Amino acid sequence: MRDLKLFRRTNCFFSVVLFSAGALAAAPEQSPPAGVFSKRNPDHQQNIATEAAVRVLEDDPDFNAGKGSVFTSGGTNETDAAIMDGKTLAAGAVASLKHIKNPISLARLVMEKSGHVMMDSEGAEAFAKENGIELVNQKYFFTQKRWDALQKIKAAEKNRTSGAEKEFLITDQDRHGTVGAVALDQSGNLAAATSTGGTTNKRPGRVGDTPVIGAGTYANNATCAVSATGDGEYFIRATVGRDVSALIEYRGMSLKDAAQAALDKVAKLGGTGGLIAIDGQGNVTLPFNTAGMYRGYVDPNGKFVIEIYR
Ligand code: ASP
Repeated sequence: MRDLKLFRRTNCFFSVVLFSAGALAAAPEQSPPAGVFSKRNPDHQQNIATEAAVRVLEDDPDFNAGKGSVFTSGGTNETDAAIMDGKTLAAGAVASLKHIKNPISLARLVMEKSGHVMMDSEGAEAFAKENGIELVNQKYFFTQKRWDALQKIKAAEKNRTSGAEKEFLITDQDRHGTVGAVALDQSGNLAAATSTGGTTNKRPGRVGDTPVIGAGTYANNATCAVSATGDGEYFIRATVGRDVSALIEYRGMSLKDAAQAALDKVAKLGGTGGLIAIDGQGNVTLPFNTAGMYRGYVDPNGKFVIEIYR
């Protein structure tokens, strides 16, 4: 198994973790769907690795993706995800899903089998069913923590309109969160994957930056792989993922400077968040303009680094 560098992140606080694909494959709870490590796909280890890392986080109720997704204003859960292969520039994105246990796996299926790049809601779920992807009841996504966050935001809204004085403290965690991974394999192939429940109290039908290729998710072997988190509307308007790549490609900027410039553009528009990125040389950068970002990685020597604040 070739070594892979993986990053993961969550919340507007993010996590970034570099794993080896071997370690991911070995841990039972981190097992990817049957066949993903099969010989059928020897050229797509970087996609397999990002999907596998994101699936682990989607199954963890602590993260805002899959199982732990936040609630819409209508009390439903609607998830978005995307994956991109830096070698071929193939991409798959899904949005407004209500019954898909692991949205990132459906995104990969869209990339590999649909002939499309982006699919949403019922059509995407029908495609999932046809292809044996696991569907679940909406109840699967219920977590008390996310429900309470919705109630807190609704109370704060009501309070604002009624002019009452009581304050409700809304944290970054109440408002959003996302998980993602970027990977580089030893052949120089890059990949990015991102999955989210979106933002708490979003309108049903709202889609954020995560599944927008070039905004929340982007990968290109010629430049870098990027996965972003934060106020999706701003990340879409600033075309963050593509901007990082373009600054490297056309301006010859370093990964670090390009990522910071893209994030500064978000901040200038009024948005907050962060991103994780890796280039073909294995340079990594994890900038954020929030109080913190859960992040970590395993370097090629197997050293684990996990951080939250600056
Ligand atoms: N970017 C996600 C969205 O807007 C939310 C987040 O990352 O916190 O849907």
